[in-house]
Amino acid sequence: MDYKKVDEKDVEYLRTLVDADRILVGDEISEDYSHDELGTVANYPEVLMRVLSTEEVSAIMKYAYEQNIPVVVRGSGTGLVGACVPIYGGIMLETTLMNHILELDTENLTVTVEPGVLLMELSKFVEENDLFYPPDPGEKSATIAGNISTNAGGMRAVKYGVTRDYVRGLTVVMPNGEVLELGGKIVKNSSGYSLKDLVIGSEGTLCVITRAVLKLLPLPKKTLSLLVPFDTFTEAAAVVPKIIKSKAIPTAIEFMERQTILFAEDFLGKKFPDTKSNAYILLTFDGNTKEQVEAEYEVVADLCLSEGAKDVYIVDTDERKDSVWSARGAFLEAIKASTTEMDECDVVVPRNRVAEFINYTHDLEKELNIRIPSFGHAGDGNLHLYICRDELGQKEWEEMLDTAMDKLYAKSLEFDGLVSGEHGIGYAKRKYLFNDYGEYEMGLMDGIKHAFDPKNILNPKKVCQM
Ligand SMILES: Cc1cc2nc3c(=O)[nH]c(=O)nc-3n(C[C@H](O)[C@H](O)[C@H](O)COP(=O)(O)OP(=O)(O)OC[C@H]3O[C@@H](n4cnc5c(N)ncnc54)[C@H](O)[C@@H]3O)c2cc1C
Repeated sequence: MDYKKVDEKDVEYLRTLVDADRILVGDEISEDYSHDELGTVANYPEVLMRVLSTEEVSAIMKYAYEQNIPVVVRGSGTGLVGACVPIYGGIMLETTLMNHILELDTENLTVTVEPGVLLMELSKFVEENDLFYPPDPGEKSATIAGNISTNAGGMRAVKYGVTRDYVRGLTVVMPNGEVLELGGKIVKNSSGYSLKDLVIGSEGTLCVITRAVLKLLPLPKKTLSLLVPFDTFTEAAAVVPKIIKSKAIPTAIEFMERQTILFAEDFLGKKFPDTKSNAYILLTFDGNTKEQVEAEYEVVADLCLSEGAKDVYIVDTDERKDSVWSARGAFLEAIKASTTEMDECDVVVPRNRVAEFINYTHDLEKELNIRIPSFGHAGDGNLHLYICRDELGQKEWEEMLDTAMDKLYAKSLEFDGLVSGEHGIGYAKRKYLFNDYGEYEMGLMDGIKHAFDPKNILNPKKVCQM
């Protein structure tokens, strides 16, 4: 790509657009901004600008567009696919100072926020107002615009859906600096192509989100979890479609294997309530009364016991809640701590193929003589598999990783799955997206990218660009 390198004249102009302490150049930029949580894809921006308003973003984009300078937006950098890494350098727009909750509309049940509001701040704010923002991805320090840009999922997707289902409206800055309002507070919308929905999950490649109107629900008053042990993963996964078909609607159905729980125990120095079984499902239920929640979980507990569960633990004391949920929250970090390096596969398969897929990863562990610990969302078929490097040398690791990823993604296709359930494509998973979709679909994506960003200055070489 033939982009303009940022020179002194550009810096001089960019300094006129933001306060002096919100622009960093060259060596002033910390290493943190060269990568996200994936870590293996890295490059520095030439200029880092910590933006405060839609107007600032618009002025910067206008200049970058005229000068043909690439721009990458970064939220908290918690992504797992290298999506916010500036492959060609250029300008990085960092949004975490745009962290204001602008309006709570209790009649339309919406909250309007700036892009850099953190998920944990939003949840706390709405819950204090007896309201509920259901999307619940694991990393609570991610920004809302990061969540929107990756269409983040999380544990409550079984009952409530994902981030896309809660975005009513967006203010966006186009690559040429134009500001658009997409959607709004309206509930229904059949007014032409949904540009808002194209932007959700577009990983900063189409425009910059500077404000979002999010849908809220009344806060459920009661929640309760069940931890259910099984002898085998096959039994545990087989019960999930039956639970979904029953009249009970759990908020979450997570799966975990014994080994992953042991990593979390080691990592946290805390005991899990039970580690005698090979496989577990963890379910949560919510509702407005104790009776409603009890009625739902009793149906599911009986169903699990009749389908081979060894026990059903009710997670109701503070101590048990803490041990179960802190372990669930630490799985990724705990697996990371158990190895020298790892890479993640975030495939999604139809719910009724989860057991077959996980059993396949066990076969692959034996075939390649590697470890692939996993956990994930049994209720929606979204699996997180971690290929561990352990003691492998650099060359062996690279070859083994390629082979393992190729095989896992090929198997997910065979099972009618897709490359990513919630983390996105970014830089790291492009090859597999191209494998999953045909030339026609990739051509359509490329056409959409071109229509939004004809000069290809916004987050180039991501998602649909090899
Ligand atoms: C421990 C851990 C657990 C996780 N659990 C989950 C999980 O359960 N579910 C899940 O979905 N993800 C999960 N993630 C991944 C990550 O937290 C999400 O992808 C999150 O949405 C990224 O938000 P961020 O603010 O960190 O975005 P970044 O990593 O900074 O950026 C991600 C993408 O969004 C774009 N972007 C950010 N802000 C804007 C904007 N204002 N306008 C346009 N584009 C923008 C960036 O350009 C980039 O393409 C987890 C990560 C970790 C480390």
